[in-house]
Amino acid sequence: MKKLQNYINGKLQPPKSGNYIENFDPSKGVAFSLIPDSNLEDVAEATSAAKKAFPKWSAMSLSERSEVLLRLSKGIEERMDEFVAAESLDNGKPVSLARQVDIPRAVSNLSFFATAILHFASESHYMEGVGINYTTRKPIGVVGCISPWNLPLYLFTWKIAPALASGNCVVAKPSEITPYTAYLLSEVAVDAGMPPGVLNIIHGLGTSAGDAIVKHPDIKAVSFTGGTATGAYIAKTAGPMFKKLSLELGGKNPNIIFADCDFDEMLSTTIRSSFANQGQICLCGSRIFIESSIYDKFKTAFVEKVSRMKVGIPSDLNTKQGAIVSKDHMEKVLSYIELAKEEGGEILAGGKQVFLDAPYDKGYYIAPTIIEGLPHDCRTNQEEIFGPVVTLCPFDSEEEVLEMANSTQYGLAATLWTSNLKKAHRVADEIHSGIVWINSWLVRDLRTPFGGVKASGVGREGGWEALKFFTEPKNIFIKS
Ligand code: NDP
Repeated sequence: MKKLQNYINGKLQPPKSGNYIENFDPSKGVAFSLIPDSNLEDVAEATSAAKKAFPKWSAMSLSERSEVLLRLSKGIEERMDEFVAAESLDNGKPVSLARQVDIPRAVSNLSFFATAILHFASESHYMEGVGINYTTRKPIGVVGCISPWNLPLYLFTWKIAPALASGNCVVAKPSEITPYTAYLLSEVAVDAGMPPGVLNIIHGLGTSAGDAIVKHPDIKAVSFTGGTATGAYIAKTAGPMFKKLSLELGGKNPNIIFADCDFDEMLSTTIRSSFANQGQICLCGSRIFIESSIYDKFKTAFVEKVSRMKVGIPSDLNTKQGAIVSKDHMEKVLSYIELAKEEGGEILAGGKQVFLDAPYDKGYYIAPTIIEGLPHDCRTNQEEIFGPVVTLCPFDSEEEVLEMANSTQYGLAATLWTSNLKKAHRVADEIHSGIVWINSWLVRDLRTPFGGVKASGVGREGGWEALKFFTEPKNIFIKS
């Protein structure tokens, strides 16, 4: 079985413990590779290499740093097929999705921040007759980046690209469930001549390798994307150490459909916003609110189309729903479907595990599931399921839908469908969330602030926000 390695101080190397963890192919439910079970010692070595590399890397000219990142971006592009296959194999997502979204976006993340840094500017504030303030923005030093399994390389590069572009050295950990493309990236980094110690990639469990990153005193900032409970633990641990923290956490996003929307466009986008990546995107709209006058029309059309979605092996180009990422996660999602039934929900489509033919018969597949008849405040409608499960709920007024939409602890993203411009602005303004898409979903401009409110996170990523996070401002005043 292939053994992945850590990437520390410019070299691929085994974990200090000598221990490995099995990495599963969710489409078959069998282990296909082994990943380092790294611990404190590996993180300590990586951090010390990063600390040593920092003076030179941070002093390098912006154009030289930009060149190194562009080489990483190009290196992924040149091995596109291999990256696409690895992402799909590791995560269970349809290979078509990895080719259209995940890997191209990883390429763009690196090239975007490689060039954004060339245009990044700091502020000055002139005080008439008094003097001038100018603000410098310097890299922080060694920073930690921890990413989840749902969009593995996409989110991994979304963090390391701005961190490196702004002159920091990085100790990064991908999810232990989907480490493969981060490992391939370390091979690309070796080939691209990345200076040793600037980027270090540690594989292993969140509770050991991840925890060691969060606790290491020389790691001065942590950018984390993952579950809200993990985010709370990280905040509790890193807060008293006065580390800078960016936390991108869970969501329970509302998709609000008014009767005056463009029905066909709304329907096809709602299928994507509900079930793309098996519903395992933090931005998926899992609570669908439909204005009562079109509730039956929507329900009939949506159920009909979703019931025809092909659940199949990730490598089949006709597959619309691939495998759920892990057995544990599949069981969690199925347990929520059971909970929905106990809470009085009626299953309109899906609602069960799907068994494919051998050799995929032990894979983790769930039919896309639609549930109706649940109150907005029940657990199914309040807790993050993070799978191919949506609920339908009718509403009669803006006030009513806003109250239901805003009733969860989360506030990451929301989708609105209406052709009334004033209503769109009014409702968007009242929704408690960091991102609102009107008549669209998941249209991303990498320059925009990305992140959530309430239990969906602290801070923003993307564009200047990310470059600001990874730099420390210093204001200097000169008297005139
Ligand atoms: P987890 O919180 O379980 O894990 C995220 C990362 O943190 C993994 O690399 C994990 O390692 C690591 N980790 C776990 N425990 C610790 C710890 N104690 N200290 C340091 N690191 C730790 O999330 P999932 O991977 O299950 O991802 C799904 C979640 O991510 C969902 O809640 C989803 O909403 C959220 N998410 C949010 C996004 C956003 O932008 N707001 C985007 C995408 C996902 P390991 O895998 O080994 O456990």
